[in-house]
Order: sequence, then structure tokens, then C-alpha cells
Amino acid sequence: MLAPSPLQPLTHPLAHAAGVRLYCKRDDLYAFDAGSPLQGNKVRKLWPYLSDPASLRGRRVVSFGGAFSNHLAALATAGLRFGFATRFIVRGEPVSNPVLDYLRAAGSELHFVSRSEYRRRHDEDYLRGLAIDTSDILIPEGGSTTASLGAVGKPFTETVDQLGEVPTYFCLSAGTGCTAAGIVDAASDYGSEIEVYPALKGDWMLGEIAAWLERPSEDILVRMIYDYTYGGYAKFPPHWRLNTPDGCLAKRADIGIAGLPPLEPVYTAKLFAGVMDRIAKGVYAPGSTLVILHTGGIY
Ligand SMILES: *Cc1c(COP(=O)(O)O)cnc(C)c1O
Repeated sequence: MLAPSPLQPLTHPLAHAAGVRLYCKRDDLYAFDAGSPLQGNKVRKLWPYLSDPASLRGRRVVSFGGAFSNHLAALATAGLRFGFATRFIVRGEPVSNPVLDYLRAAGSELHFVSRSEYRRRHDEDYLRGLAIDTSDILIPEGGSTTASLGAVGKPFTETVDQLGEVPTYFCLSAGTGCTAAGIVDAASDYGSEIEVYPALKGDWMLGEIAAWLERPSEDILVRMIYDYTYGGYAKFPPHWRLNTPDGCLAKRADIGIAGLPPLEPVYTAKLFAGVMDRIAKGVYAPGSTLVILHTGGIY
């Protein structure tokens, strides 16, 4: 078991003016090795596998992702660390970018497919056609599995322990909604208000969360915030783009929160920008405690 990630108090003029106590749950620091691409919610999501690394040794893990996938970078790193091979089905053209170059350097076998072929990634016939060996371990896109729901909910219970009280609000980003489902489930006995900020356009994310939890959407206690997708997945304002040093995997956004490293723009910068905007709009009652989950991310 890794140690709980830190809970960091943030001082920000907007939070101060609104009378809101603001914290960041630093899951970007949740890692086996500091600074490694195997970090953040991808470690939590892969926990069912990583908790028993001996079962992976010498095997081959097959998984799926886009050309900038944090999940694939995390898995390739895990393969090197724990001694298993990786084969990835990647959506798109065989281009060069920092993440794909990293995967190549890590020795991952990359299999590029069109968007329409990628859509078949849950189809049994298709998976058989990929000639995946019976001893291969198949991990779904994003590492999202029902087996990881317990582990991905841990940042909430760790926060309650670290804070010594239940936060009024707990805010996080969503891609597949698996992490959000784990958090909602973990929080169900506590009475925090969970705010979920999807990184993708559309209003379907509540349905995804409900599906993970196998419950009707009406029974899910969560507030969905659909206003901060900035045009859709991996789209974001150009002024968020920071220059990053050569060889760095990351693209970073500086959205002006002191005390935090620049954020990755696909998930966390949207979340933080959204929460800060809502603080400025007076959404949160004075005296409330607000925790933002930094899920990490390397792109
Ligand atoms: C993958 C990822 C997410 C999305 O997690 P889901 O469980 O798919 O919703 C959020 N934040 C970061 C930094 C990620 O890498």
C-alpha cells in the first residue's frame, strides 16, 4: 500500500474573499517513484493489478488508449518497473509525440488503429481477431474497471482522515467517470457534496457514473458541472499552453493558483479553472470547506 497523498491547504484571494477554506488533495504525488508517469488516479485505477505485481511478472498486458493517454504512459512505466511486456491498441496515426515516443522508448508494442476500428474495443470478436494470447492480461481503456472502484474512492476517505472532518464540497474531473463513481460511492455515508467536472462535451457523464455503480442516476448524490469542458476532450484555451523543457512529457497550463505546479490541461486545469470561477461567482457558502482532487496527469 502506498502512503496517502498529501492534503495541501491553498491560499487564493478568491477563496479568501468568499470565506471558503480551500484544499488540494495532491494525488498527482501518489506514485511508487516521485516524478514517474505511473502516478495519480492511474495508480489508483490500476491498483487491482499493481497490488500484486508478482502476478504480472513475465506476462503481457494489452490495453487501449488515445495518442496522449496518461493511462498508457502509466502502464508502460509499470511494465518496466514490475517486469511485464505491454502491447497497446492506439487510436490514430502512428505519429511522433512525447507520449508515444515515451511508449516506444519503454519498449511497448504499438498497434495504431482508425477511430472506427478503435470503437470496437469492447467487442469480443474484435478482441479475438487481434490474436491476443490467452495468457495476456487485457486491461480496458483508462484502466477503468469495477474492480478499481474501491481504490479510486480512497482519496475521499483519506481526505476525511487528514482534515479531521467531512469537507462540505469535494470536486473532481471525469473522463470515463470511473474515478468519480468510486469517489461518490466512498462519500455516500458522509454527506459531502461531490461536484464532478467532465472533461468531455455533452451531458451523459451522470449516466456513466450510474452505470459504474449499477444504480439509477436518480439515486446518485452528485452535482454535475458541465460548463467547463472548454469545447471538448483535449481542447483548451491557447493561453493555457506553457512552454515545457525538451524531453518533458508534459504540456502544462498555468491558471494562476499559487503553491501548485502547473496543471495538465486535459483534465485538471479545466477542473481547477471551473472551481475558481464558481468560487468567484459566490456558489459556495462562506465557511464551507472545499477540496479539489488533483488526479495528476502527465500530458
Ligand atoms: C485519466 C484521468 C482522469 C479521468 O479519470 P476517469 O476515471 O476516466 O474519469 C482524470 N484526471 C487525470 C489527470 C487523468 O489522467
